[in-house]
Formats: sequence, structure tokens, C-alpha cells
Amino acid sequence: MKHLYTFISFLILFAVLLSGCENQSPETESETVQWALALHGGAGTISQDLPDSIKQEYYEGLEQALRTGELVLRDGGSALDAVEQVVRSLEDNPLFNAGRGSVFTKEGRHELDAAIMDGSTLGAGALTGLTTVKNPISLARKVMTDSPHIFFSGNGAETYADQTDVERVDNDYFHTDRRYEQWERAQEEARAITPEESIHDWIKDTKFGTVGAVAYDSNGNLAAATSTGGMTNKQFGRVGDVPIIGSGTFANHIAAISATGWGEQIMRNVSANTIANYMEFKGASLDEAMDFVLNERLDPGDAGFIAVDNQGNISMKMNTAGMFRASLNSNGDRTVMIWENE
Ligand code: ASP
Repeated sequence: MKHLYTFISFLILFAVLLSGCENQSPETESETVQWALALHGGAGTISQDLPDSIKQEYYEGLEQALRTGELVLRDGGSALDAVEQVVRSLEDNPLFNAGRGSVFTKEGRHELDAAIMDGSTLGAGALTGLTTVKNPISLARKVMTDSPHIFFSGNGAETYADQTDVERVDNDYFHTDRRYEQWERAQEEARAITPEESIHDWIKDTKFGTVGAVAYDSNGNLAAATSTGGMTNKQFGRVGDVPIIGSGTFANHIAAISATGWGEQIMRNVSANTIANYMEFKGASLDEAMDFVLNERLDPGDAGFIAVDNQGNISMKMNTAGMFRASLNSNGDRTVMIWENE
């Protein structure tokens, strides 16, 4: 009898140990995301016939930016540092329409916009119409941390830059032959528009190419950053969605979002903020909120978004033919893509 009791106690102990192990299975553990990062290099009509060598250059640019952010987040760095560093990397890459490689304005110059937002404090910094700041995103961060204001424009933005140590360049630094040719073509197309044709139809066919990043860090903080040269052939003083907090760039305690696409449409739908609010007010998932804005608010061909929520879930969606994008999280889930299905 004594042996039977001992045997039963042993069985119970074994069962308890086994159930304890199940609760800590590797699957459960690996579902918890410590950090997550997503970035984009613009959305729009990106032809699948791109020569392989050019596709490769884009993939490499996206990979390089992803690695930059990975190094920050893997070492316990902040979401804010990660998005700033990722966007700097894309600004320095002439392939993308931000920093070097920015598009030309109607007057044949470059006017740059950028914004950054810290989800944990709602701190934000934004600039429009910059002409001599090499990395607008770093100046946006200074606006956020060092100035009593959120948004500087044109000459005021340049004057603010004078008071900082950010690197300055001639406006020509932003020139690339590719964007110059694109501008020449855009001017011809603009001249060819007949009065019956809608200006909106023409704008929707113009190629886009903004850059952005969103991150969730190991302290549970979220941040978003976006930088752009705007739209090819844009008119005097045109401001796009990117530096408008809540339109092209937004982060709070729920989600961090960065947009790309037709700025006027993104702005009139206050798109990035709507994604976060839809989640908060409707209890929707990040994917559902993205679908709502892309399908119920915007029109096909308008835009793309990258976003991350406060659980480290990433969503990258667009209603354009393509979006240069990449993502990575602490579990090693990694994507680098241009079109819908690759
Ligand atoms: N959204 C940007 C703008 O309208 C353009 C882009 O995303 O490429 O300025």
C-alpha cells in the first residue's frame, strides 16, 4: 500500500512538472516580441519590369537601412534612435526621394520636408521647405527636443538650422540625374495636359518615393519618422503630408505610423492618426485599421503605410502597385519587398 501511495505521488509530481514545461514552451516565448522595426522607401507605380540590377540596388538600400535600425534596437536602444538612424540611411541613399535624391520643385530646386514623433511622450518635431540641411530628420529631432515648438517652415526652418550643429550642404547636393530627367518629363506632361483632363488624374500618375521608419523598442516605446523631397514639380511652398503630424507621421502609446503616396489625399484623411484612433476607439487590430484607411477612406493608387503597434505587431500595406519596404523583429521575422506578392 505504501508503495502504491509513493507511486501515485510520483505520478502527480511528474504531471505537474510536465504542465509547467508546457506553459513555458518555446513557441509561447518566441511569440513575445522584444523589439520591431519597419521602413519604407516610397509607394507608387513601380514597374515589375525594373532591370534586375536596379532592383538589386533597391533591395540593398533597404537591407542597409534595416541593419542600421537592427543594431540600435538589438542593443536595447530606443525606438526614437532607431527611426532617426534608419531614415538618415535612406536620406543618404540617392535612390530614394529624401535627402540626396530628392525630387525637383517646379522652379528646379529641392525643398525637403521631415517629421519625427515619440509615442511615449507625444513629443514631435517637423520641418517643411528645407533647402540646405543634409539630413532633415535629425533637425526634426532637434526641433522636438530642443525647441518649444513643433513645426518650422521655409526661411524660419533654415534659421532654426543655423542655431544647431546639423550638417549643411548646397541645394545642388540633393541633385541626381535620375530625378532631373523625371522632372523634365513631368514638366512636359504638365504642359501636355488639356483643360478637359483632371489635374488629379495627372498627379495620381506621378511617381512617389518618400522614406519612413517606425519602431517598437525593448522598453515598450513607439516612434515614427518620415522624410521626403515631396512631389516632382511641386509648386511654390507646397507642403505635403509628411511634416503634418497625424497625416503622414504619427506615434502614440497605441501605434507608430509612417505614410507615403499622394500627400493631398493622405492629409485630407488625417491618415496616420486615423489608423491609431481606429484601433483605440474600435478595438481594432493594426491590420484592420490599415485596411479601413486604405479601403474605406483612400482611393486605389493613393498611398501606402508602415506601422507597428504596442505589442510589436508590424503591418505594411498599400493600395498602390508597389511600395519599397522592409521589416524585422527580435524573433528574426524579416521581409524586404517591393510588390504585393514576391
Ligand atoms: N507623400 C509625399 C508627399 O506628398 C510623397 C511621397 O510619399 O512620395 O509629399
